Amino acid sequence: MRLLIMGPPGAGKGTQAAVIGEHYGIPAISTGNIFRLAITNRTKLGERIKRIIAEGGYVPDSLTLKVVVERLEEDDAKDGWLLDGFPRTLRQVTALDSELEAHGFHLDAVVSLTADEEAIIQRMLKRAEIENRPDDNEETIRNRMEVYHEQTDPLLDVYRERGLLIELDGMGAVEEVSQRVLAALADRLGR
Ligand code: AMP
Repeated sequence: MRLLIMGPPGAGKGTQAAVIGEHYGIPAISTGNIFRLAITNRTKLGERIKRIIAEGGYVPDSLTLKVVVERLEEDDAKDGWLLDGFPRTLRQVTALDSELEAHGFHLDAVVSLTADEEAIIQRMLKRAEIENRPDDNEETIRNRMEVYHEQTDPLLDVYRERGLLIELDGMGAVEEVSQRVLAALADRLGR
C-alpha cells in the first residue's frame, strides 16, 4: 500500500501518519523528521538546510528528492509506505510519479487533513512550547502557512483530479480524527 498524507502545517499530519502506518504495517516517512534529524546530527545535509527550515521555507527540490528516493530504497519500504510532508511542490509530484512508474507502483490514496487556520496556529504555538522546534515561532509559522498555500495547496487539485484524494476534517481530538481517517481509508481501500 502506498499512501500520502497532506495538509497545512500543524494540521496533525505526523500524528495521524503514525497511526495509519501502524494500522497498515507500513513505515510512515516524514521528510520533515528526516531533515530535523540531519540538523540534530549536524550532517552535511543538516548544515545546508538548517536556515531554510528555521525560516519556514522549503528545502530545494533536488535535495528533498534525493532524501526521499534514498529512504524509499530502504528495506522496510519495499512493500509500501506512507509519505508525510512529501510531495510539497509540483516538481516533487512529477518526480514521485516517475519514481513510482519506474517500479510499476501506484498511489492507493491521498489523505488530506483540513483545518481551521487560526486554530492551527494556536496549536502550533502550544506545540512549540512542548517540543521546542526551531521553526515553531509565530513569524515562521505564518511564513510556513503562506508557503504552503502558494506551493502545496495546488497539489490537492492534482490528486483530486486523479480521484485519489480523501479530504477529512483534521480538527478535534486525536483519537476522533484517527477514527475518521482509518474509517475513510477502510472504505476506500476495502481493508
Ligand atoms: P514538516 O515536519 O513536514 O512540517 O516539515 C518541516 C520543514 O521541513 C518544512 O517547513 C520545510 O522547511 C521542510 N520540508 C519538509 N518536507 C519538505 C518537502 N517535501 N519539500 C521541501 N521542504 C520540506
